[in-house]
Amino acid sequence: MSRFHPFLSEDKKVELKAVAESIVVNGKGILAADESTGTIGKRFDKINLENTEENRRQYRKLLFSTDASFAEHISGVILFHETFYQKNDDGTPLIKLLQDKGIIPGIKVDKGTVILAGTDEETTTQGLDGLGERCAQYYKDGARFAKWRCVLKISEYTPSYLALIENANVLARYASICQQNGLVPIVEPEVLPDGDHDLETCQRVTEQVLSFVYKALADHHVYLEGTLLKPNMVTAGQNSKRLFSPEQVGHATTEALRRTVPAAVPGVVFLSGGQSEEEATLNLNAINKAHGKKPWALSFSYGRALQASVLKAWQGKQENVNVAQKEFLARAKVNGLASQGKYEGGVCGVAGDQSLFVAKHAY
Ligand code: 13P
Repeated sequence: MSRFHPFLSEDKKVELKAVAESIVVNGKGILAADESTGTIGKRFDKINLENTEENRRQYRKLLFSTDASFAEHISGVILFHETFYQKNDDGTPLIKLLQDKGIIPGIKVDKGTVILAGTDEETTTQGLDGLGERCAQYYKDGARFAKWRCVLKISEYTPSYLALIENANVLARYASICQQNGLVPIVEPEVLPDGDHDLETCQRVTEQVLSFVYKALADHHVYLEGTLLKPNMVTAGQNSKRLFSPEQVGHATTEALRRTVPAAVPGVVFLSGGQSEEEATLNLNAINKAHGKKPWALSFSYGRALQASVLKAWQGKQENVNVAQKEFLARAKVNGLASQGKYEGGVCGVAGDQSLFVAKHAY
């Protein structure tokens, strides 16, 4: 018996690597449009729109039928199960609107968080049961990558050892199952911005979390070249009294990544985590301009920071679809520039620099 057991064919590896690399090519990034039914409901509440299946379909159709030039900046879209199988008015699957523009459909496969008993309300993420079969079906139906979000929080005694090891392990199991079924796993260990901690504390915790994650990925034989990392940026807590500049965020974030993320990983696609649209773009730009080695592409996989202006402009009304799509195109463009360190600032949408923070954010 050999010491190492083969676990992925060469063909599978080539395919996974090519997909992961193509998602982060030339400053492109991801639109995270995979809000669960409850979460999109909270977004719709803000524009007084009822959370019906039809309104969700209209909204996602609006996003995906935006002028094809958004594909110059967006390479992949993460979808919720319901959206993945929804259709346009003429019966065309919504994912075909993306595929026809050369955009890769991805799928959220986790089933949300649950409390870890005996901890200070820390969580793990569910969804491993039947995951292999679900991934195989999604691959057959056109998905090429997946997302699974784990959540860690900063307080005096958290993240606990249990939360660190459990979340790293469940992310690694998920990543391994995805790769076996041809999907590139986006590994998302989000350190929440809730709290009054400073930048340095966030950096230390983020480094700790990422170290646990990459140890677990190695233990589970995950093929790193065929993965993407989706972390939080290193920022001070929402209630921190001290303010830090994009340059400081850029330095702290790249230093944390350098210390923990192997160079074999093709790309890091940040979540926006409640930052305003402008803040998320300025910080991403500063991350790309930060000095020091950066062997990975550094791009975006934003939910709120790509959609706040779109929703505000749309208001659920057919007559506003065009202006809302223009807002989307503008956000896609500036973040594409920021992924290359070429954003000069000041291109605000109708949501401007309004904070998009949601306490204890669930997705
Ligand atoms: P935000 O960019 O709104 O933080 O969400 C991204 C995401 O996909 C979280 O899982």
